[in-house]
Amino acid sequence: MYHLDDLPFTTSQLPDVYTQFRKGVETRCQVRSTFKLPPSLAPKPKKFVDGEMDWGTMPTLEQLGLQARQQSPLGVMKFVGGETAALHRLQDYFWEKDCLRVYKETRNGMLGPNYSTKFSPWLAFGFISARYIHEEVKRYERERVSNDSTYWVLFELIWRDYFRFVSMKYGNAIFHLEGPRRVKGVRWSQNKELFDCWRNGTTGYPLIDANMKELIATGFMSNRGRQIVCSFLVRDMGIDWRMGAEWFESLLLDYDPCSNYGNWTYGAGVGNDPREDRYFSIPKQAQNYDPDGDYVAHWIPQLANLSKSQRHFPGQAYLKPVVSLKFANSGRPRPESNKLDFSKMEFKSGGNSGGFRGRSRRF
Ligand code: FAD
Repeated sequence: MYHLDDLPFTTSQLPDVYTQFRKGVETRCQVRSTFKLPPSLAPKPKKFVDGEMDWGTMPTLEQLGLQARQQSPLGVMKFVGGETAALHRLQDYFWEKDCLRVYKETRNGMLGPNYSTKFSPWLAFGFISARYIHEEVKRYERERVSNDSTYWVLFELIWRDYFRFVSMKYGNAIFHLEGPRRVKGVRWSQNKELFDCWRNGTTGYPLIDANMKELIATGFMSNRGRQIVCSFLVRDMGIDWRMGAEWFESLLLDYDPCSNYGNWTYGAGVGNDPREDRYFSIPKQAQNYDPDGDYVAHWIPQLANLSKSQRHFPGQAYLKPVVSLKFANSGRPRPESNKLDFSKMEFKSGGNSGGFRGRSRRF
């Protein structure tokens, strides 16, 4: 959204704290406008008119040795490639359904097409530009309403910019185990068995498993889901964060190196921001973002038959959890609420496999 040449700092002086970056760009630079479509194009070069050269044709997927993948009917929405579909999504989300006015309240959802914009796959492929989205947000603010939600879409797009510039500042360090901050002394595990449980969605924690099943089936996962499964892999399983990042890289429809590795290094506590070290507590996240278990029942149908209060903590009715949670009491529901009692739980592997030992902020 912001042009490199317009930043109020050089890339080497880029702030390591997002808020400082955001405030710097918001107060000291402007988003450039998009280029308008030219009313007409210059005539074809003579060589093409004479038939000396031709434009060629787009190869089909089959010619490239690939097969179109069926989209899962359970997915949040049907993603169609191309600029036309991208513009249509914006028109629908902003103008027809008017979802932009409540984006900030809905953006942490996990189920359905309209809790968030779903622009990311189109942005990743260049079918829509962040500057065009910026212009449309500004038009919406003039013509409909300007509120926290309209601002928040831009706030998130600034995160996207930020990870791009962070990648320029730190180069290949974003792919290294120790990350941009060169964090040493963490005992990362590469336990294949545990990692397979995570990626296949068989950890025994419905909230993790549902999100990982969604990723496999659709190539998409909500931002909330991504934060939760990242925290679980890194902090509860103690597994090398790069294994998670690579798994995401191989499946995400919206994969882009800066956003993916930026978020993973951030979530793993090795990112550029020294203040961020976040632990997402499963019971707490489940309670806040899927209180009736609708999301987990959507992806794990066997849970749909259980009462809503049991779906996140199904006990014998589901797989045995493969690891214990690092902060078992964090956000733990009260026993009378008929939810999870960690003190009575058994774990397959008998505990965590090492990993992160730092102090965490809990969510
Ligand atoms: P909305 O909530 O509607 O946000 C609007 C736009 O803002 C998004 O399309 C996206 O371009 C940008 N945005 C929002 N959140 C972030 C964020 N945390 N970081 C960077 N940009 C953001 N996003 C990718 O585009 N590609 C990735 O490979 C990717 N990997 C991620 C890995 C992890 C571990 C995590 C925690 C997040 C990752 N994200 C990635 C960021 C975010 O989850 C997605 O951009 C968002 O879920 C896409 O859905 P949306 O378009 O509906 O987002």
